[in-house]
Order: sequence, then structure tokens, then C-alpha cells
Amino acid sequence: MSPSEGASISSAVPTSLERRDRGANSLRLALSKRVYLPACSIAAVAAVLVAIGWSNRWGGANFSGSLTSLRVVVAGPATLVIIGIFLIVERLRPAQRRPIFARGYRQDLIYTVLNATLVVPLVTALTLSFSEVVSRSMPWLVLARISVLPRWFAIAAIFVAMDAMNWLAHLANHRVRVLWRFHELHHSQEDMNVLTVFRTHPLIHVSYLVALVPGVVLVANGTLPIVGLVVYGGIVAFAHSNTNLGFGRLERVFVSPNYHRIHHRLDWPQDVNLGFALTIWDQLFHRAVFPTKETIRADTGLPGRPLAVEQAGHRPRHLSVLAAQLIGPFRPMDATTKLPSIRNKTLEPPSTAVRTSGGAATHSDDVARHTRERVLR
Ligand SMILES: [Zn+2]
Ligand SMILES: [Zn+2]
Repeated sequence: MSPSEGASISSAVPTSLERRDRGANSLRLALSKRVYLPACSIAAVAAVLVAIGWSNRWGGANFSGSLTSLRVVVAGPATLVIIGIFLIVERLRPAQRRPIFARGYRQDLIYTVLNATLVVPLVTALTLSFSEVVSRSMPWLVLARISVLPRWFAIAAIFVAMDAMNWLAHLANHRVRVLWRFHELHHSQEDMNVLTVFRTHPLIHVSYLVALVPGVVLVANGTLPIVGLVVYGGIVAFAHSNTNLGFGRLERVFVSPNYHRIHHRLDWPQDVNLGFALTIWDQLFHRAVFPTKETIRADTGLPGRPLAVEQAGHRPRHLSVLAAQLIGPFRPMDATTKLPSIRNKTLEPPSTAVRTSGGAATHSDDVARHTRERVLR
């Protein structure tokens, strides 16, 4: 046997390193058929942050005090009163008529309870840990006290900058596939209501941690008081209410229910109107679509129902749907599926909404089927 023949035979026999690589590849392939592996990275980030915070004793912060404050913001007396008022307003002036105990309302009530109980401790842990990691690893980011800067100005600056960061994270939720897997739950709601603000996957909060950065930067000059966070939460909750209400000229600044409904439209790319409280970021980045008569009563949800929803089927099966929705981001996903984007359309919304068009214009078969099911249920 010539030396070259020997070399070719030895290259055909896999080395132990190659065997290990092939083994790892086939394991990854087998796993990815059952689990959407990138989603695990978000869970891992959350776990690492909680572990860091725990081991650092939350950077000296008072965990139970922060937990109580966040609980007050999410479900304190003021928040409950505000939500109660909004629930009445949306019954008086509904965008879409719905039974008082519509399936979507009941499902969102479960999410509200879930947030007030289990999600609040998780978000407290993530918040304290992330703030500590940022201020410790990037101390230059934290501004010293500026004596000429009034406290109210610092608080207003945090409010606006926090909203900008939320906008950015929300855009990422729509453009980055792994984040979209967690965010699509929020968009699966077909019975929009005030409590839809709570219809979020617990791990999506990882993506919104960047909104804490302005608070870290300006911490020596002012901090957002609890009442500020309650007001902010109230604006965001009201934007989700099933209320037929626009803000007229004020809509050039603040998000109204009619404005945010366009973000949840069933028959249109949903990476528009991403603003939480302010519409200025959407206008700056050409993603603002202002309400018209047709958009006010438009259907909401996801075409083809890629995620389990309580509206499908004869019975709502709230708890099994909840379980399916929470494990939804970890389902395997076709990597070639494109996320629908406004980049592929003009900014003019179609002149006919799903409910009134009866199958015309931009309907896909999925949307038409979805709408038929809704009418029949
Ligand atoms: Zn969204
Ligand atoms: Zn929303």
C-alpha cells in the first residue's frame, strides 16, 4: 500500500473528535425537532441573571421592599381602581361588541392573576440583578449628581427615555425571531381588553430590561416614583382596552386605544405603532399608522392561529390553552418562516377592515378562515 493510499484510508475513518462532533450534531438535530433551541437561551439568560442577583444579595437592595413596590404597581389599590374605570369605559364605548365574560377576557384575567402572583417576583429579581450588573460592569454609565438639574426634569427624562427603550425592545420583539416566539402570545388576543396588557409570556421581560438603563444612568438625580410607574402602566393598559377612542391631535404624542389596536390588527403586519405611551418614536422611524374609520373596529389576533387560543374549539379550555401558550415559544419552528413586516408594504393601511371586507383585499385564506370561525363560535 502506497503512503497516499494509507492517508486516504485514514481520512475515511472518523477520528474520535469527528465522531464526537457528529454525535453532537445528531443530538442537536434530534433536539431541534422537538424544541426550538434559541428559546432556551432566553430562559438561560433569565436563570443566569436570577442566579447572579441571588449570589450578590441583589447588590444590597431590599428584595422584599422592591417586590412590594412592584406588586403595588401591578395590582395595588390605585391600579385596581384605574383598571376598574377602564373596564367600565370599554363597556360604554366598545370598539367591538363582546359578551361581558368573553373567552379572551377570562383568559387575560388568568394572566393578570399570574402576573400579580408568580411573575412579579421574577421581574423583581431580573430588575434588581440587571440594574446591579449594569452599574457594576459599566460604572461610567452612572451620572453623578448634577446640582443644576431639577429633580422633576430628571424624572421626566427617565420617563421619556424609558419609553424609547421600550419602543426599541418592542421593535426587536417583532424583528428577532426568538423574541417574537415569546411576544406572539401578546398578539394572539382576539378579544382585546384592558387586561390584555398582562397577556405576556413571563420570559419576555428579559427583552424589556434595557428600559431600566435610563433609570440607572440618572439614579443620582432622581428615580421614578411608584405613582409615575402606576400612571405609565395605566396608559399602556388603556391602550389595550376595547374602547373606541382616539386622542385627536394629542395622538401625535400619546398612544390611544384606536392607535394601539392597529398594532394588533389581524390582517396587517404588526411591526407598526410599537409605542408604549408615546407615539413620537413611531413617527420618527416611519412606523406610525394613525387610526381611520376602518381601523377602529378591525379584528385582532394572528393569522392562522400559530399559537393555541381560547377562541378556537367549542370549549375555551382556559388552563390547557394557558399551558400551551406558555410552552409555545419552545415549540419547534420552521427557520425559513418569514416574520411579516411593514417593510414589505406601504404605510397606508388597507381601506377595508377584515370584519367589513368579507374576504376581499389583503385576506389570506388563513385570515378568512379565522374570521369565519370567530363568527361561528
Ligand atoms: Zn407587538
Ligand atoms: Zn399590545
